[in-house]
Amino acid sequence: MRKQIVAGNWKMNLNASESEELIAELKTQTFNDGVHVAIAIPYLHLAAAVVQTAGTSINVAAQNMHQAASGAFTGEVSAAMLEEIGVKTVILGHSERRAYFCETDALLAEKINTALKNEMHVIFCFGEELEDRKSESHLDFVASQIKNSLFHLNESQWENITLAYEPVWAIGTGETASPVQVQEMHAHIRAVLATKYDDVLAQSISVLYGGSVKPANAKEIFAQKDIDGGLVGGASLNAVDFTAIVNSF
Ligand code: PEP
Repeated sequence: MRKQIVAGNWKMNLNASESEELIAELKTQTFNDGVHVAIAIPYLHLAAAVVQTAGTSINVAAQNMHQAASGAFTGEVSAAMLEEIGVKTVILGHSERRAYFCETDALLAEKINTALKNEMHVIFCFGEELEDRKSESHLDFVASQIKNSLFHLNESQWENITLAYEPVWAIGTGETASPVQVQEMHAHIRAVLATKYDDVLAQSISVLYGGSVKPANAKEIFAQKDIDGGLVGGASLNAVDFTAIVNSF
């Protein structure tokens, strides 16, 4: 059975004490049973957050990592470093990483390999730009992102992959893809997976939606049959809003 997941992406927000405060607030919230909750937070706060969330259902995730095991990569963080402090989940392929840090499908394939080799769980993001949707090439574009970064994986490796469809035009813009648009894309994603693997695998992967998910729209989005939760940016910085989204299933 697919997991229902809501992951918060704090991006480059909150200093150490604000991070501690928000986690303390999240710990007072009641999340619906069965929904897996994660928060992807800045590297600097990860170790403290792992300690602070110990014994809770909140999974602390990284927003990125380097593809190499170690070496001369100034400013970077490796999978082994994350693992050592107890971080077992990493977001890879976020559109901001692709746009501002030139991360390509091929580079992301390498990062995925490294994460899996280190027994980490990957939340892999992808999604089209507005021009792709306007030119009606969004379905092909998303299929190519999935093929280029993931189709080298064998079936068992998919146990550690969650997908997050995030149309770039809906991230941080307040513009949400409609539930119908998201459902169409998520069904397409499963169809793409089934062409390479099979329908059993395609139906077993959790596919999240990300792009201006808020308490006001989460219920309608999560009600779609191929949507297994959300990757939430802005609204994850508020404990009450984030909890309302988690509890929208
Ligand atoms: C994101 O950062 O992945 C995201 C979806 O952001 P927002 O919810 O703010 O659009």
